[in-house]
Amino acid sequence: MSDQANSQSSSLQNSSTRRRVLIVGGVAGGASCAARLRRLDESVEIIMFDRGPYVSFANCGLPYYVGNVISDERKLLVASREMFRDRFNIEVHTDTEVTGVDRSARTITVRDGRTGNSRVERYDALVLSPGAAPIRPPLPGVDLPGVFAVRSIPDSRRIRSRIADRDAKTAVVVGGGFIGLEMVENLIHRELSVAILEKLPQVMPPLDPELAVPLKEHLAAKGVQLHLGDGLALIEEHSGGLMVVAESGARLPADLVILAIGVRPETALAKDAGLQIGPRGGIVVDAQMRTSDPHIWAVGDVVEVQDVLTGQETVLPLAGPANRQGRVAAESIAGRATHFRGVQATAVVGVLGLTVASTGASEKGLRRAGFTSFQRVSFTRVITPAITPAHKRFI
Ligand SMILES: Cc1cc2nc3c(=O)[nH]c(=O)nc-3n(C[C@H](O)[C@H](O)[C@H](O)COP(=O)(O)OP(=O)(O)OC[C@H]3O[C@@H](n4cnc5c(N)ncnc54)[C@H](O)[C@@H]3O)c2cc1C
Repeated sequence: MSDQANSQSSSLQNSSTRRRVLIVGGVAGGASCAARLRRLDESVEIIMFDRGPYVSFANCGLPYYVGNVISDERKLLVASREMFRDRFNIEVHTDTEVTGVDRSARTITVRDGRTGNSRVERYDALVLSPGAAPIRPPLPGVDLPGVFAVRSIPDSRRIRSRIADRDAKTAVVVGGGFIGLEMVENLIHRELSVAILEKLPQVMPPLDPELAVPLKEHLAAKGVQLHLGDGLALIEEHSGGLMVVAESGARLPADLVILAIGVRPETALAKDAGLQIGPRGGIVVDAQMRTSDPHIWAVGDVVEVQDVLTGQETVLPLAGPANRQGRVAAESIAGRATHFRGVQATAVVGVLGLTVASTGASEKGLRRAGFTSFQRVSFTRVITPAITPAHKRFI
């Protein structure tokens, strides 16, 4: 018998008769689901897998770790593997990727990243919370050293090393959404000179254009170079650093480049397993976060949810909904009829002393959703001093 077959059969033989809940992804949605489920049911076996080295870390703090506002990496860790084991009796496997789901056998295949060995684990209920991956456009130079996306603690560590090793002075942030702007703030905090390259003619794309104007003026007043309405064409090596070339032909030198042009739900596992995927590219779930398979739930950035204002399906990659959905899935698995009510996209972000907040639909969002007749009651208000990362919450 091969090593793989051996480990597969022993895993199946060892599986107990207790109800077994497996969770893929151990950060916002996955960890919330695991902790809530344990509070509801002491007898169920809960096992969480994450392909990364950590579970339950504060993704929201990553830009502030780059900016040295959070200087101790340990402060990003909300809960450890040991804490899950000792306090919640939840087994956590880090550096372990789930590579396949066999729905008819109700098993998953997992690969241990340290040994390379794969094994099969059976489930009674499976929860998918694999999140969303930063988009890397297929353009020349996006994989060059010095070009980063920010998703994990190791990503932030690499950016910090680049700044320190190169004594970096300049950065280009591609994308002027909330992660891009948080990176701008933190790179400025590290005393870099920063340029934003944004394809749309405004920063913070979810806002209506006129509401983004005070933010644009504020960024310019703080010395941020704004290249709006201009997309990324390519990145090349240049004099020991990098050169970002825009679609307009503008050339922006940089010691490092941050790609923050959005995220895409990580649906590969779900697609391979034949789960239903919706028109916005997320996994389709019902109000109890159950997928098209009655034994599989999905939560967080990977799912489509209902916008409570338009009634339409949307994807909303924010931590608040992910945490809530994780708890709703746990309640559903435990037999409670809790429902996720949908989202209204409430967000708050501090940018260099200015606080930008929004909730509900923008005018352009409503038009995109097909609404043509409505009354505008939107307003802008500048609140100072800026909220600190500790106060910042996306709901
Ligand atoms: C830099 C940054 C800043 C942010 N700031 C904010 C903020 O201020 N406020 C806010 O509300 N939201 C913020 N967000 C978004 C928020 O972090 C996400 O919405 C939330 O973490 C989504 O939770 P999730 O469980 O769906 O996915 P994640 O938290 O991304 O967790 C998914 C985990 O699954 C693992 N995984 C994926 N596939 C597999 C597999 N096949 N096998 C095993 N493991 C797998 C991944 O490694 C990852 O650790 C930020 C995100 C980033 C990247």
